[in-house]
Amino acid sequence: MTFPVVGMVGGGQLARMTHEAGIPLGLKFKLLSDTPQDSAAQVVSEVVIGDYRDLDTLRAFAQGCDVITFDHEHVPTEHLRALEADGIPVRPGPDALVHAQDKGVMRARLREIGVPCPRHRIVSSPEDVERFAVEEGDGYPVVLKTVRGGYDGKGVWIVRGREEAAEPFRAGVPVLAEEKVGFVRELAANVVRSPHGQAVAYPVVESVQVDGVCDTVIAPAPGLSEELSARAQQLALTVAEELGVVGHLAVELFETRAADGTPGILVNELAMRPHNSGHWTQDGAVTSQFANHVRAVLDLPLGDPRPRATWTVMTNVLGGDFPDMYPAYLHCMARDPQLKIHMYGKDVKPGRKVGHVNTYGDDLAEVRERGRHAADYLRGTVVE
Ligand code: ADP
Repeated sequence: MTFPVVGMVGGGQLARMTHEAGIPLGLKFKLLSDTPQDSAAQVVSEVVIGDYRDLDTLRAFAQGCDVITFDHEHVPTEHLRALEADGIPVRPGPDALVHAQDKGVMRARLREIGVPCPRHRIVSSPEDVERFAVEEGDGYPVVLKTVRGGYDGKGVWIVRGREEAAEPFRAGVPVLAEEKVGFVRELAANVVRSPHGQAVAYPVVESVQVDGVCDTVIAPAPGLSEELSARAQQLALTVAEELGVVGHLAVELFETRAADGTPGILVNELAMRPHNSGHWTQDGAVTSQFANHVRAVLDLPLGDPRPRATWTVMTNVLGGDFPDMYPAYLHCMARDPQLKIHMYGKDVKPGRKVGHVNTYGDDLAEVRERGRHAADYLRGTVVE
């Protein structure tokens, strides 16, 4: 018997959980990781330690892989093109992935295909920011983002005047200016698309951010009208199709409310890999985002994305003053036999995502409380 070999670039928790989803299929994983301590490097049997920015390293790594996919978006676009030219299937491919790598390219393309986005402009100086603030109507505050390399709110600034606008330009990379959207809440529409064009859409979720980091995800988004939910799913499917995405696509959205009360959606950003807003699917959907990502990159038929419970809530465990995990597990498992714990094996740093818990049931307030308690307990910020 032979089984497909999946090459995964990046050793973070997304690679770890993608690997986990491939185990029941007997898939072989090969991992290119920065260090042996990375989350996925601890569990994948074939690990290459190397720099994903180096083309020779990538080429050597790709030998023997049936397909290459990713834990993150940072592999240089030209290297991905070189791998494709070598005959290695890269999924998602460089022409799609560039839209998740570069926020300027993403905004330009979404505008072209008529997808609603915040007003925006590429700027190169604080004077440009000032012009954008005046000409686009609303004045300050303005949101500035480095077009490449940001994550978890790093690389995003909210500036209230020209004097605050110097910092983002220091890195020497292009900067995207956006209107500051007065959104009601943040949503995410997760879809998966395969090379032969099959696609599935998960229920639209609400993502609650604290200090620019995702804290809780509620599936489905409470109180979201069927009309808006269908519009968000359709929009995500359109983006996946138009951009030729293969694998999981998360479309991060702002839900807005017009002066007359009409709800709307604007796209914040795209991620072309399994995403934090889809972790609930591990225990809350018939087929998880990880299982469907693996199916998609191998061009296998996709699995059912429908929810298994009325409500599923994902609560992130952010690194803090960590206790010994064994007594923490004793407490959490005894308190809530339905709790699903997913820890990433990472070193603890304050504020870093080190795991998450999934809770589910019929009473949303109770499901949220159970998730909050478990995440806080595992983090060590509550003791009973
Ligand atoms: P990252 O790449 O770090 O995830 P995002 O573009 O998602 O960066 O921005 C991080 C957070 O900043 C968002 O989740 C949102 O809360 C806020 N934000 C980003 N863009 C805007 C905007 N145009 N208006 C208002 N808030 C924004």
